[in-house]
Amino acid sequence: MLSLLYRGRLASCNYDCPYCPFAKRKDDRATLKQDAAELARFVDWLRGQPEGRFNLLFTPWGEALTRRHYRDAIITLSHWPQVARVAVQTNLSNSPQWLAAANPDRVSLWCSFHPEETPRAGFLQRVQQLQALGVRHSIGMVGIRRFFGEMAALRQQLPPGTYLWINAYHDEGRRYYSAAELAWLGQIDPWFALNHQAPPSLGAPCVTGERVLSVDGNGDIRRCHFVPAVLGNLYQPALANPLQTRACPNRRCDCYIGHAHRPDLPFQQAFGLGTLGRIPEVFHWQAPADWQPAPPAPPSPSSRVIRLVAY
Ligand code: SF4
Ligand code: SF4
Repeated sequence: MLSLLYRGRLASCNYDCPYCPFAKRKDDRATLKQDAAELARFVDWLRGQPEGRFNLLFTPWGEALTRRHYRDAIITLSHWPQVARVAVQTNLSNSPQWLAAANPDRVSLWCSFHPEETPRAGFLQRVQQLQALGVRHSIGMVGIRRFFGEMAALRQQLPPGTYLWINAYHDEGRRYYSAAELAWLGQIDPWFALNHQAPPSLGAPCVTGERVLSVDGNGDIRRCHFVPAVLGNLYQPALANPLQTRACPNRRCDCYIGHAHRPDLPFQQAFGLGTLGRIPEVFHWQAPADWQPAPPAPPSPSSRVIRLVAY
């Protein structure tokens, strides 16, 4: 099985999250047209491949599901025997009803909830639509402190079988979280500690470059989104570099989309075929006995001074 992470030139998004890791751009008509043509070429290439061979993830710079060419490609691919699973990252801003035309056994959504862009009630309605359609999905949020209340409410309103992942927020430094906050976030997402602080990746084993490849709109292949060296081109008969195991050349690999492919970490075993959609094989959330809808507030600087004075 070969996993392909397709990231085309589409970069626009209908949301405007201030913490967005990608430079937000507008796609003009020509860019969208080219993106659609490149995606069609990728789909066409897959048509000629052996059956049961591919696990796919669309991982755009922006939002893909507001674009018809991505919705159509996902519906088509979900019916092909070449494709074991096709997943897509999305902000789930639009109704997922279009997925009624897809094969629910093969399609999955990696959804992000952005509470400053959309109300929780509407987001949950769209999640319910996904459930009614029988489409596998995971839901996630960025672990910013001002979102903790929304995170707790979302966790309690989602079905226990739905995994709510939390992406660690690193923009304000690695010491952003208190110990109590780390523990609380770990009660919501059992893999949060690894997202917050994955072990150093330099020299670590990683199946990208062998069983997982990143593909861009031109068909250029890289081992992952984070290592720029081009291994070859999907549309050329021979790869410049053969697919083989390679140790990671980067010091850190913080994103799930990267470190999920490290066999020394637990993701491949826990997520199996759902690894690309970030969906664990088995998941059941239960509020811990000491569950609080927010972590204890960190001590204020002034109370720290008082303690220092007192002792
Ligand atoms: S929804 Fe995602 S891609 Fe769009 S602005 Fe927010 S973080 Fe960026
Ligand atoms: S560990 Fe991360 S950065 Fe390193 S090769 Fe794997 S996916 Fe790429």
